[in-house]
Amino acid sequence: MRRANTPFNGKQFILNQNTGEIHDLDRETLLCCIDKIDAEHIFACDTYAEAVLFSSVIGVKRNGCPHCMPERHRD
Ligand SMILES: [Zn+2]
Repeated sequence: MRRANTPFNGKQFILNQNTGEIHDLDRETLLCCIDKIDAEHIFACDTYAEAVLFSSVIGVKRNGCPHCMPERHRD
């Protein structure tokens, strides 16, 4: 579920800058625990590619969330 408020700003993808986990809010599940992510750790963007690029810029190892982006998840 997308969220209109800051820091989400209605965007589809969320990168947790602390863990490197990327979520697709259009496929969010309860197990994503989006509302437990510290607001200052959230980078919100329109595309998966943007989230990947930003993870590289800040030097965090990215991973797709196993619940909402299983096709991008690596163990
Ligand atoms: Zn997720």
